[in-house]
Amino acid sequence: MKTFYSPSHRDHSPPHEFEMGRLAPAVEIPERAERVRMEVEARKLGPVLAPSPFPDAAILRVHDRGLFKTLCGAHDDWTKRYGADAPAAIPSCWPARGLRERREGDIESRLGTYCFDTATPIVKGTWAAARKAADIALSGADAIANGARAAFALARPPGHHASGDVYGGYCYLNNVAIAAQWFVDRGLKPAILDVDYHHGNGTQTIFYRRRDVLFVSIHADPSFAYPHFLGFADEAGEGDGEGFNLNLPLTAGTGWDGYSQALDKARSRIEAFGADVMLVSLGLDTFEYDPISQLRLKTEDYLRMGECLARLDKPVLFVFEGGYNVEHLGTITANVLEGFSGA
Ligand SMILES: [Zn+2]
Repeated sequence: MKTFYSPSHRDHSPPHEFEMGRLAPAVEIPERAERVRMEVEARKLGPVLAPSPFPDAAILRVHDRGLFKTLCGAHDDWTKRYGADAPAAIPSCWPARGLRERREGDIESRLGTYCFDTATPIVKGTWAAARKAADIALSGADAIANGARAAFALARPPGHHASGDVYGGYCYLNNVAIAAQWFVDRGLKPAILDVDYHHGNGTQTIFYRRRDVLFVSIHADPSFAYPHFLGFADEAGEGDGEGFNLNLPLTAGTGWDGYSQALDKARSRIEAFGADVMLVSLGLDTFEYDPISQLRLKTEDYLRMGECLARLDKPVLFVFEGGYNVEHLGTITANVLEGFSGA
């Protein structure tokens, strides 16, 4: 299996995020992707390759131009306003009910307009890393379109919380959605399966009114887990997309038994959809020792997850998302890939 990776993600290294009313050390850190790359290499799962450059147009198929421009210039605009030594750019005011949305305003208003939380700081290297992560996902998609059975986009920063015109949740550009749209534009029918601990609200929103891309997400119930405002079981799609969105929220403490039942439901739905290709938003924060997880998957369960995905007998593009137990992250990520490849 080819893995696509670029060292440019290391320059996206915010020292902190803002949560529970205080600056907290960042958990979405460069070491995450480095641990995974090293494990892929150590286990000889396949070559680790640099991504090819893809045009901005491929990203603008799913992202709003205003979001794109804001992300691209945010660090410059922020440091022009607050100085070169300013802390990372994080919004502090949002256009909630009763306020005006200002898509062309100053940097403070645009951060509020285009970002939905305080966990997604922008530093000098953020845009270059996010842009490269999209190239990584597209390079993986290109490998699949050229006949590969599977590819792994080791993209960082992650993407599944970013919608067409709002970033957040450590995500700036939605890598998996950009790759899915790329498949659609080549006449293919993609299904996205999101196995991150958190609901893929951005991906859901992008495809919510469409039937050409199926979105299925298995995640911790948003009644107690981030992103809190989306990911409930009754969200089934709208308009043309009705019936093409499936959320399978899980209760706290769910282990492999409950998880594998949800995975079977997801597989049945993807089979019925008749997908040509599957994209897996591969988040590993379902792990029992993940610092922000209330699910209980064990190291060996990730091998079974990979085997289970292989039984769909479709080409699969794995796109890296969350997972914050840095010590075990390489092992459990590689377990999914190895379980898939060996099955
Ligand atoms: Zn997550």
